[in-house]
Amino acid sequence: MTQSAEEQRLYLQAMGIPVWEVRQPHLLQNLPVADAVVVESERESDVESPLAEAVVEPPTVLNWPDLQQQVSNCTTCAARQGRMQPILGAGSEQADLLIVGEMPNADEDRLAAPFVSASGQLLEGMLKAIGLSRQAVYLTHIVKCHLEEHRDPTPEELSACQGFLLQQIKLVQPKAILLLGRIAAHACLQVNTPLTQLRGEWFEFAATPLLVSYHPAYLLRKPSAKRLAWQDLKLLRARLQGE
Ligand code: SF4
Repeated sequence: MTQSAEEQRLYLQAMGIPVWEVRQPHLLQNLPVADAVVVESERESDVESPLAEAVVEPPTVLNWPDLQQQVSNCTTCAARQGRMQPILGAGSEQADLLIVGEMPNADEDRLAAPFVSASGQLLEGMLKAIGLSRQAVYLTHIVKCHLEEHRDPTPEELSACQGFLLQQIKLVQPKAILLLGRIAAHACLQVNTPLTQLRGEWFEFAATPLLVSYHPAYLLRKPSAKRLAWQDLKLLRARLQGE
């Protein structure tokens, strides 16, 4: 995953992120996950001790073909009404990094693939900036079906679909999970804390280190947040490289 400083600078420029940064050592950057969890639990009184509830084990681990079939045939919740087809995920089934978005948008629903269109291109640029390709990671969403009328998923829909994500984590066994966006963060961590307070810290979900950051669709609407997203990416890169 090594790359030259010049390559990285060009990628960041392409993303619209200035290449300079304020050098402040991050509180949790080099801590193991267990320590990070302790610091997180002591950090904010409004973070509602999410971790014990967030670590949920799926009852049975499926294989990929069975999981794909279950998702393809799933009509468990009301989200089925807005989709063309459920989208399980895409990418490397042996990836070190599992990226979880919110739910497929209309383009993704039509093309049957996660993270396509403009937000997908931005995500690819972000990955490239830390030496990763789209093919090297595994991409999925917290809800596998496109929701009509751009609405948020209901608690029932989030709960109904969570088992599929847990199966994916068990099958991929990534070194880290990157949650993108408010909906995914709140669903996995079982909190209503603003995303700005959740990002930049390591959590644990299904026995896997988990980091929260901005969804690329949000970064397209608010480019000034790309600088914070870059800080998150550096934290992620350090974890993946075992630093
Ligand atoms: Fe099934 Fe998930 Fe789609 Fe609901 S959102 S119908 S649980 S695949």
